[in-house]
Amino acid sequence: MSAPEEKAKRHKKRMQARKKIVDEGVAKALEERGVVVLYTGDGKGKTTAAVGTVARALGYGYKVVVAQFIKGVWECGEKYLLTQLPEQRYRLEWHEMGTDFTWETQDYEADKAAARALWEKALAALRDESVYLVVLDELTYALNFHWLEKREVLEAIQGRPRGQTVIITGRGAKQYLRDIADTISEMRPVKHAFNDGIAARKGIEW
Ligand code: ATP
Ligand code: MG
Repeated sequence: MSAPEEKAKRHKKRMQARKKIVDEGVAKALEERGVVVLYTGDGKGKTTAAVGTVARALGYGYKVVVAQFIKGVWECGEKYLLTQLPEQRYRLEWHEMGTDFTWETQDYEADKAAARALWEKALAALRDESVYLVVLDELTYALNFHWLEKREVLEAIQGRPRGQTVIITGRGAKQYLRDIADTISEMRPVKHAFNDGIAARKGIEW
């Protein structure tokens, strides 16, 4: 057998072994239900991973509700794209805290009221069987700042319709969120351009 033939044979064997492992895993995964996905950590990629999943679900015609627990109006390209999709075909609701309050104003009660108003919208989605995916973007802040009541949030997520998936994003997710999550990815900042003095880039960072 020639060297390239040997190599091809070895590759085929490796692929067969890998396929066996994958097939065994697929055979074991029999439960059909929505999951809780948590994207946390200090590295870049949490919100963009959530929004990528929004595109994925919408692509199949599923109904999606996004709630962004960020102070003030957060500019981001994905919002401008996704909220302009034709409504007859793509079922998306995009909610924000929508206050005029920015990091500068520091009005705790006003922030809390805005977060609670947004939570009511998220809660409606978490009770709605027709919603396939709920994204609670930056929810960790709303909890860590005590804008929302932890128990109420956990109960609503755990009591959601069986087929519904929830994605939570934000830095500093506490253990109680890790406990209810089925899938957790921790974004680890190996390097970030910002720390080398490179300005945040439109269409890349927001
Ligand atoms: P992205 O929206 O790019 O997926 P993220 O959701 O993981 O980022 P956040 O903690 O929500 O990150 O950060 C808010 C802003 O800071 C975004 O513009 C994001 O791109 C940027 N960012 C994220 N991680 C870092 C980092 N390690 N250093 C500097 N800026 C960051
Ligand atoms: Mg984010």
